[in-house]
Amino acid sequence: MVTTSVPTREELRRAPKVLLHDHLDGGLRPRTVVELAESTGYDGLPTTDVDELGRWFLEAADSGSLEKYLETFAHTCGVMQTEEALARVAAEAVEDLADDGVVYAELRYAPELFVARGLSLDGVIRAVQDGITDGERRAAARGQRIQARQLLCAMRQHARALEIAELAVRYRDAGVAGFDIAGPEAGYPPTRNLDAFEYMRGNNGHFTIHAGEAFGLASIWEAIQHCGAERLGHGVRIVDDVKTSADGEVQLGRLASYVRDRRIPLEICPSSNVQTGAAASIAEHPIGLLAKLRFRVTVNTDNRLMSGCSLSSEFAALVDAFGYGWADIQWFTINAMKSAFLDFDQRLDVINNVIKPGYAELV
Ligand SMILES: [Zn+2]
Repeated sequence: MVTTSVPTREELRRAPKVLLHDHLDGGLRPRTVVELAESTGYDGLPTTDVDELGRWFLEAADSGSLEKYLETFAHTCGVMQTEEALARVAAEAVEDLADDGVVYAELRYAPELFVARGLSLDGVIRAVQDGITDGERRAAARGQRIQARQLLCAMRQHARALEIAELAVRYRDAGVAGFDIAGPEAGYPPTRNLDAFEYMRGNNGHFTIHAGEAFGLASIWEAIQHCGAERLGHGVRIVDDVKTSADGEVQLGRLASYVRDRRIPLEICPSSNVQTGAAASIAEHPIGLLAKLRFRVTVNTDNRLMSGCSLSSEFAALVDAFGYGWADIQWFTINAMKSAFLDFDQRLDVINNVIKPGYAELV
């Protein structure tokens, strides 16, 4: 069926989608935060009223600075310090994504943030995997098909990246798809963690790097050319290397050309970028230009709790801002699946047997 109608929110929710950039500690249900605080004895929450707490996360994350935004994670990480809590959060994340029509997801988190109350790094990874497996099973029982993998992050400001990279390799056949570094970009260039990236490359492991969010082209260049990142977490500042003249002619600099020529995926998170000030609004977000120039753009949520978003609501916002139709949404989705840290044959299986049939009814 050929339709020119504007995708509705409900259709966007049902359409098969792929999510590459979603933080496990940024996607809790507000009710779960309250319940886990109570069961684990965490007394630092600003309020234990579920609705109020949900609003508090949104407002705190809306403050405009990345550093402030990161403060909200003290609370989510604070309630995720037991195996039971980690498994519950992971299972619910998978369920929530499946409900939102996500068919493949990579959930990322930094294991080192969950050892404050005695868990080992291995224990953290195993608990999260138990939760993911449980979430996939519960979704399947409801007739939803979702596969989820872990991405292990190291925090840029800590000095444990090599250790985390070793874990990513050790657990790669047990649910861990790859490695990432996260945390404040300014003052912590990716080259600080070069040993970890060399280790990943030496072991043919996959990794992405948060780069080009709050910080500019130098960070992107280091991530790709020094560290060997396969994807860019955000990467949105690559637009600084794209010049548009007064008569509308667009010219790409060398780095932007390289990123586009090599099809390096950009894990773009529109709402999160607006909250941290990396973009003024969704309508002014560089994703419009980058997609028009056919960079390998993917659409992501970053932190569903802090941004009060889902992958389908991100797409709805883009439809409103840029007038995207189903062909565009399918393009973003296939871009994401092509860029997943999953074996080639498995990626192809999802593209050919889940995504394309799903959009055939919509495009
Ligand atoms: Zn992120």
